[in-house]
Amino acid sequence: MTSSQELFDRAKTLMPGGVNSPVRAFGSVGGTPRFMVNAKGAYLSDADGRDYVDLVCSWGPALLGHAHPDVLAAVHAAVDHGLSFGASTPAESELAALVQGRVSGVERLRMVSTGTEATMTAVRLARGFTGRDLIIKFAGCYHGHLDSLLAAAGSGLATLALPGSAGVTAATAAETLVLPYNDLAAVEAAFAAHGDRIAAVITEAAPANMGVVTPGDGFNAGLSRITSEHGALLILDEVLTGFRVGAAGYWGLTGGSAVGTERWTPDLFTFGKVIGGGLPTAALGGRAEVMDYLAPLGPVYQAGTLSGNPVAMAAGVATLTAATASVYAAVDARSLELSTALTGALSAEGVDHSVQRAGSLFSVAFGTSAHGVQNYDDAQAQEVFRYAPFFHSMLDSGVYLPPSVFEAWFLSAAHDDAAMNRIFDALPAAAKAAAS
Ligand code: PLP
Repeated sequence: MTSSQELFDRAKTLMPGGVNSPVRAFGSVGGTPRFMVNAKGAYLSDADGRDYVDLVCSWGPALLGHAHPDVLAAVHAAVDHGLSFGASTPAESELAALVQGRVSGVERLRMVSTGTEATMTAVRLARGFTGRDLIIKFAGCYHGHLDSLLAAAGSGLATLALPGSAGVTAATAAETLVLPYNDLAAVEAAFAAHGDRIAAVITEAAPANMGVVTPGDGFNAGLSRITSEHGALLILDEVLTGFRVGAAGYWGLTGGSAVGTERWTPDLFTFGKVIGGGLPTAALGGRAEVMDYLAPLGPVYQAGTLSGNPVAMAAGVATLTAATASVYAAVDARSLELSTALTGALSAEGVDHSVQRAGSLFSVAFGTSAHGVQNYDDAQAQEVFRYAPFFHSMLDSGVYLPPSVFEAWFLSAAHDDAAMNRIFDALPAAAKAAAS
């Protein structure tokens, strides 16, 4: 069998950096990226014949575990009817209705193929609806690779320590105001200065691309209040959190829930990852009054050759149907077990750290125990160097972590006792490696 090293060497002659998405290149942890050939349940297998307990889960979509039988059956059945019709299909309404049933703020939904398209369209729609030009984003929040939102964008940019991206014009960058996360006073000040020019605030429902950061109490609700006071829109980016941390995403855990918090609803949501069950589907949705500004009803243009693809719709419908309350309870429980074991192992080696949580999502940050990570400055000030040895020790023990400290760890309902025990057994040596 061709090894990962040989595959990587070949890929580098064919594709920039040998990859089709930068973090896959292992740039911040070093070593040879593993080339995967199979994914089943909680496990990935690589070209070298090794298997790993997977804590990346395709960066979120594999909520049920890889190759869940219901999802595979739905995909096989859809494929038998053809791959792409270039016309409307019944399954699009089926998926839209499932989303609407879970997230009550979604009166209309538009399917697209990637999270980036969802946020890009949401931004254009907010500008078209309000007739204003400025967008507020938060440093460390990643919303995909659209030009206007690449400033201080976390994710691969954080990993590569890039401030933004070459190729984004100064004129485009000037239309995005970047504010510190978890700082409502900064938002109030920006609106006081530019209120009549701000079309929207976009925020990750809970940031997970500078590592996980918990929104402070009332932060998202405050954004909802301030935007509506000023006639701007709130875009809640649930590409990563949507249908992963709960049936109605992170909003369902906070704004959409009456439990101890103020009720609030964003004007627009963006979804991706879990909604497509591992196939390329994403969506934006929200108030009908705003969504109906999209073509063909309204003046804001948006389209896609593969939007609402029937095979992807089938995977999404099967995934959301199978994602019952017991799936979320199982993922929550495994997440708590793992984060507790992680903090125990690191503490036993005297490694200063914080485990950052938002629902079932978590990540580790090093040297941050004093006050955790509240924003991008905190995330970047951590002891990043401890992660590479930690990561490689886990990898050697058969556990595949995200190859960057700035990414969340993902569990699935397929992470059973055997999978968890392999992770627990691997942690002490990895904690020792992080300590040195
Ligand atoms: N928004 C958030 C919060 C994300 O985490 C991501 C991707 O990780 C995106 C948008 C972009 O999604 P995609 O990679 O499908 O374009």
